[in-house]
Order: sequence, then structure tokens, then C-alpha cells
Amino acid sequence: MKESNLMNICTEVDKMQNETYVPMSAPIVQTSSFYFANYEDFIGVSEDEKNHYVYTRGSNPTTKSLELKLAQLEGGEQCKVFASGMAAISATLFTLVSAGDHILMLNTVYGEAVAFAKYMSKFGVSVDRVDVETMSDIENNIKETTKIIYFESPSSQKFELLNLSAIADLAKVRHIYTVIDATWASPIFQHPLAAGIDIVIHSLSKYIGGHSDIVGGAVIGKRSVVDSIFEHGHQSLGAVSSPFNSWLALRGLRTLPVRMQHLSKAITMLLDGLAGDQRIKRIYHPYIANETQRQLADKYLSGYGPLFAIDLTDESFEKLKIFVDALEVMSIGVSWGGFESLVLPAFKGNNAANLAERGLPVSHIRMYLGLEDPSTVLSDIKQALDKAYGAV
Ligand code: PLP
Repeated sequence: MKESNLMNICTEVDKMQNETYVPMSAPIVQTSSFYFANYEDFIGVSEDEKNHYVYTRGSNPTTKSLELKLAQLEGGEQCKVFASGMAAISATLFTLVSAGDHILMLNTVYGEAVAFAKYMSKFGVSVDRVDVETMSDIENNIKETTKIIYFESPSSQKFELLNLSAIADLAKVRHIYTVIDATWASPIFQHPLAAGIDIVIHSLSKYIGGHSDIVGGAVIGKRSVVDSIFEHGHQSLGAVSSPFNSWLALRGLRTLPVRMQHLSKAITMLLDGLAGDQRIKRIYHPYIANETQRQLADKYLSGYGPLFAIDLTDESFEKLKIFVDALEVMSIGVSWGGFESLVLPAFKGNNAANLAERGLPVSHIRMYLGLEDPSTVLSDIKQALDKAYGAV
């Protein structure tokens, strides 16, 4: 059989198949390239790759299905999906700033995002990462050249909330973009676009994927801004989500609301069990926070993410090691949002100065409650505390 005949047969069969079934699960369109009806059609679609299927580095039907759903969930006009959360973050910053611009980063932000923003100094972009408590703290750090206010709410490590609508109002009058990494709350528990924030970013590697088996990211906002990020940050930098990873994220979305509702209840049970333990100096989570933070939680969150942190009372590295190694249900692991409960000690043996700069003690540990029974995880933490610091 001639190769071209084989190709025609395959194409014809695919077309017939497409007309005879409607799959319940979105198909994985595992293709790099797409056919065109004719030359004229090719010319037409080539000019607008974001709205047509030409090459999977631009758009792909499986990824498009994920983008449409994420846009709807966040209440945004447009979404673009990337190969990782960091790809979404770097593409956004790369697209929106020019030489001479300033990026203002608020409170603790995912470290790699800060590193990327600082790296852009070689293109003449400056960055300040500042700890803020009040709106005037933010206002005082805005410069003439500030182009982006970038933050997480709740923030990484300290899980502090910010006043989204007040930041949006402050930025709008100064023509500054507001960008939030809203991964902690997921699109289920927080809607920053409704509060006036310009751009929402999610790492799909966490709750949306939900099973510790993909890395992905998304940017959601106004069509004009997301289209520009598509053109410059996605097409040019090429950090594309594979159709299979997009499909796994679509599958994760189906159970996202149920998982998040479960986790929101479970985390309050776990935190209630940990609060008051003398061996824990501080718990960082909006559920256990001061009055101002509680008010912000009531205003912006409709549920709680299960990622939190603790500082142990005892600063001894030896005891910290005993505690972490004594955990039996929780495992040491980076990332979060999957089934498994995880711990991530902030201290790595040689980074005490860096922690101090971020206002974190050596005994700071990030914890993620997974889908295990919260009482099992609570008992696990208590028995590990007993081993390291003695029973209370
Ligand atoms: N944002 C937050 C809050 C994170 O914790 C992470 C990663 O751990 C990222 C963004 C980066 O996402 P990704 O790992 O998908 O690149």
C-alpha cells in the first residue's frame, strides 16, 4: 500500500469515527499538527493561531477545553494554559514589563517567582519584595515606574491574606497591573477577578491536577491581556502543556469541588487538634489568625486550603530532624495538592540567613494535609512531637 493511501484511509476513518460517538470524557487530541481544508483555509487560520488549531505549540482542543473551563470557573474572559505554574508566572511577567519598569512583590511569594523577577534586572527591570501589613505600606512602596503589583493571598509560608479590592483600586488609578497567584485557594474558594484583580495565575500541579502526577499552570484575565501573554509569553517561550497533561488536569477538575470541600473541613479539624499544643509556637493559616486576617478570610474565602505551616517551640536542629523523620503518615516532599499528606522543613542545613530574611525561624515547617483522615494525620504529628520533644 502506498503511504499516501494509508494516510487517506486513516483520515477518513477518523472522520467517520468522530461522527458516530460522543465521548463522556473529553478526548485527548494527541497531535502536534492539524490538517487544513485547503490553501485558503490554511492562510486564514495561520494568522490567528490563538483561535484556531494549527500546531499544538499554540492551541490544542484538549488544552482549549481546559482553558474554557478554567476561564469560566474564575469568571475571566480568557485563559491560557502552560507547561507549569512557573511557565505561567514567567510568561506573564516577561510579557507585561519593559526595560525601566518596576515589579512590586508583596509578602512571601513562591521563591522561584521572586528569583525570576530579580533575574529580569539584566533587561533593566527592577523588583522589590516587601512585607506589608497595611494599604499605606503598599502605597509607600509604589514607584513612578511600577508596572505590576504581584502577590499571593494567602501567601506562601506565612499564609497571610491581602485586601484584594483595595489593592485593585489602588493599582487601577495608577495604571498598574495586579497579578495574583491564587493557587492556595483554588478557583473553588476565591475569585480575585471579581474583586478587581487583573490577572489570576494557578499552578495546575497542585489541587487542579490533584493527584501529584502533572505539572501545569494557567493565566486567566481579560482577553486582550491574556492574548498578549499568549503571543509573547506562550508562543515565543514555548512552555506548552502536553495534551495528555491537559487531559489529566481536566480529569482533576471533575472532582475538584468535592476534594476542596472535604479538605476545607478536614483542615479545620486538624488545626483545632494542633492549636494549644505547647510544642508548637505558631500555626500559620487563615483559620487560626488575628482579627484583621479573619475579616479578610470572611470577605474573600469561601473555604480553606489545607496547606499551612508551623514553627516549633524548640529551635534545635537535632530535634527537628527527629520530629520530621518520626512522621509515619506524612512524608517529606515538595509541592502539594495531591492525595498524600506532606511536610517540607524550611531549613536545609545552610539557609538560616535566607530564612531570617523572610522572617522565618529554623523550626519552620510547611505542612500539607492530603486526603487521609485528618484524625490519622493529627495522631501522626502528635506521636512525632512526643518522640522529638517528649509527651505533654
Ligand atoms: N505558586 C505556588 C504558590 C507554588 O507553591 C508553586 C510551586 O510549588 C508554584 C506557583 C509553581 O508552580 P509549578 O510547580 O507548577 O511550576
